[in-house]
Amino acid sequence: MTMLKEGRPTAPVAVADAHMAPATVTGNRALMLEEALIFEIGSTDTTGVDFAPAPKVASRLAGLERRAIGLPGLSEQETVRHYTRLSRQNYAIDLGLFPLGSCTMKHNPRLNEKVARMPGFADLHPLAPQSTVQGALAVIHELAEWLVTLTGMHSVAMSPKAGAHGELCGLLAIRAALEARGDARSVVLVPESAHGTNPATAAFCGYKVEDIPATPEGRVDLAALTARLGPDVAAVMITNPNTCGLFERDLKTISDAVHAAGAFVYCDGANFNAIVGRVRPGDLGVDAMHINLHKTFSTPHGGGGPGSGPVVLSAALAPYAPLPFVEKQGDTFVLIEEESAQDHHAGTFGRMVAFHGQMGMFTRALAYIMSHGADGLRQVAEDAVLNANYILRSLDDVLDAPFGDSGPCMHEALFSDRGLADGFTTLDIAKGLIDEGFHPMTMYFPLVVHGAMLVEPTETESKAALDQFIMALRSLAHRAKAGDEALKGAPYHAPRRRLDETLAARKPVLTWEAPTLAQAAE
Ligand SMILES: *Cc1c(COP(=O)(O)O)cnc(C)c1O
Repeated sequence: MTMLKEGRPTAPVAVADAHMAPATVTGNRALMLEEALIFEIGSTDTTGVDFAPAPKVASRLAGLERRAIGLPGLSEQETVRHYTRLSRQNYAIDLGLFPLGSCTMKHNPRLNEKVARMPGFADLHPLAPQSTVQGALAVIHELAEWLVTLTGMHSVAMSPKAGAHGELCGLLAIRAALEARGDARSVVLVPESAHGTNPATAAFCGYKVEDIPATPEGRVDLAALTARLGPDVAAVMITNPNTCGLFERDLKTISDAVHAAGAFVYCDGANFNAIVGRVRPGDLGVDAMHINLHKTFSTPHGGGGPGSGPVVLSAALAPYAPLPFVEKQGDTFVLIEEESAQDHHAGTFGRMVAFHGQMGMFTRALAYIMSHGADGLRQVAEDAVLNANYILRSLDDVLDAPFGDSGPCMHEALFSDRGLADGFTTLDIAKGLIDEGFHPMTMYFPLVVHGAMLVEPTETESKAALDQFIMALRSLAHRAKAGDEALKGAPYHAPRRRLDETLAARKPVLTWEAPTLAQAAE
């Protein structure tokens, strides 16, 4: 394998490791090819295209200073191979089960892709006159109606571009509503088990964040929460189902108490996949909730593309929703870009985005929703929960399930590192999974569980796929409990061995610099 020394490739170095065959001369592993950076394989003297500048361009360039900017040139074949090799080092939902808890890595139906690529949607320009994009505005409007219906809420802000952006939207609306009644408050309450974006969003909006503890059963401590409510609390941010994979049964009671104290309820809706079609957050007293279209509604995410995080709002918050929004006026769809005193968004806090750049996610999500229908979506939630419980009960004899006694889980199964042999950790199991051909599960989150392993299979996996994954995880659990030292060296079969994660996080090397002549001579 090629060792990178100060960002520079050296000759392949044999790694002394009893569990591994000697390193190859090339650094390649079977048909997985080692690939250097494009700057290392390209040269400014090479090019994949070969034509003289058009005369007009040449005359325009006359008199301008021209100098090389050092971009690497490659032949066409080298270019194609470079990106194909890199793509093969990636893991994707199209390759196998992607058990990342809280991320809802489900299959992206190809029907969605077909719809999103229709030229009338794919070739839109954001500044096209509204009369020429009525179909696109109709899609946004229809999707908005579905989201409002499925959540039982009053309205929806479609412009946020991801879950975290949706949280920002929700808290800005809450702040605008509080300020409109002359009641600026300073504190946002967040359960200990919350996703990191929740406290980060609240802090970003200038609020002081206070933790609410969890009960031993893994749910929000109702008594602690209600005891903390008071005139300084602006909002409570709750995830339901929560990140321990459990339904917050007290949410309605919590909402009533929060409202009685003059505050708002923000619900992190990232886990909506577990309840879509079965539970309407509006019935639970939620004031604002983001929906990750790229989780629940199957639009690609991660390396697969941008996200989209519409925020459904209660009647109390609707007037403060951001611009722009789509309104149906008679038979015409209108994109409202400016606030006006008459309309129902009179208190809008302003604008979060320049354009609806996530239009491709809207078309995909609407295609997904319409192809499933309301009954199909309900079955999505039921099957997602069934699959997660199958994993929970197929592994809870070999892995500690901290809330396994709290009854069935929702759409994700949570395990801890309790019971592993001394010195063995969640990280060892995660790295071992890579050698077994699976992307690791979510690790060390939620923070309320030591060495957490959060597994979310989603409804789109077959029983055969689940069984294979369970088999791999059972084997790894046995090895970690038996103290199999080899596991600590995993992964052995990946393009890179175990990396120094602390160094990678604290001192990432994100730029490439040409080696100096002295280095090159070394
Ligand atoms: C994914 C997720 C978020 C953030 O959503 P993004 O779309 O990644 O910004 C927030 N909360 C939870 C629980 C999540 O799983």
